[in-house]
Amino acid sequence: MLDFSVNPISLELLTQLHDRYQSCRSGTVARYIPELAKMNPNAFSICVASVDGDLLSVGDDRQLFTIQSISKVFTYGMALEDRGRDMLLSKVGVEPTGDLFNSIIRLDENSKRPDNPMVNAGAIATTNLIQGNTATDRLNRILNTFKAYAGRDLYVDSSVFMSERTTGHRNRALAYLMRHFEMMDDRIDETLDLYFQQCALLVDCRDLALMAATLANNGVNPRSGDRAIESKYVRDLLSVMYTCGMYNFAGEWAYRVGLPAKSGVSGGIIAVVPGKMGIAVFSPPLDSHGSSVRGVKVCEDLSNICKLHLFDRFES
Ligand code: GLU
Repeated sequence: MLDFSVNPISLELLTQLHDRYQSCRSGTVARYIPELAKMNPNAFSICVASVDGDLLSVGDDRQLFTIQSISKVFTYGMALEDRGRDMLLSKVGVEPTGDLFNSIIRLDENSKRPDNPMVNAGAIATTNLIQGNTATDRLNRILNTFKAYAGRDLYVDSSVFMSERTTGHRNRALAYLMRHFEMMDDRIDETLDLYFQQCALLVDCRDLALMAATLANNGVNPRSGDRAIESKYVRDLLSVMYTCGMYNFAGEWAYRVGLPAKSGVSGGIIAVVPGKMGIAVFSPPLDSHGSSVRGVKVCEDLSNICKLHLFDRFES
């Protein structure tokens, strides 16, 4: 039993939530990347990892899936470490958009920046800032960083990577538009490949819970003790997750759940309770905002039952 909230999180509670929502049939699996359409809509798992390294999990917690947009959080951290806050802020803003994740960009009229690093345009511009002499160096740096967060080696799913690489015309268009405004350098195809590869990294729900717990633990993986990101940048990641992490549902999420979070189109969601734990849910059917239907419901229930909302400081 992980006892760090008003109501402790127990395996029993996770099992109850899993049972409650397993039969939910709302939502549809993402189809715009052809390979993603093959995902099993019934796969469902909930995992919670504490900053002490304890892990509770239920359901298909060893089922692998591609991390997709959740990767944006961690590459944003890498770009911050590589370039510093000021340089990054000059290239990618931190304003929530209220637009869909893949919206054809509104670059800021004066600065030409994409709105934030959690929408595709901002994430592609962020990946462009990751240092390395060659494409392989840059990919290896991404793999090493993600390994530090997850506590194990992660691999690219080459079918999903190739599927998105051949059909990701919209992301390609965003990159070329940003190149026009000099928000990206000339390595457009290299950066797009890196971005598609980071999105195609295979994780399971346990990995995601540990990655979230690493952020909750100020950047140190609670199991391995390895540092994944300098502690001074963790608050930046959590801030953009809080305001921009849930696509055009970010405001309602902040209101209802009240935790920094990020979702991805393969059906994963991570949420961070700073100083306490990381939460991860995996279930592929998505709502109209592009987030996992079961994932949103589970996080909302967990937040309410265990009083996890960041501003939930009053006894009723
Ligand atoms: N690779 C996906 C894309 O760029 C990620 C989208 C997401 O998970 O929101 O379209």
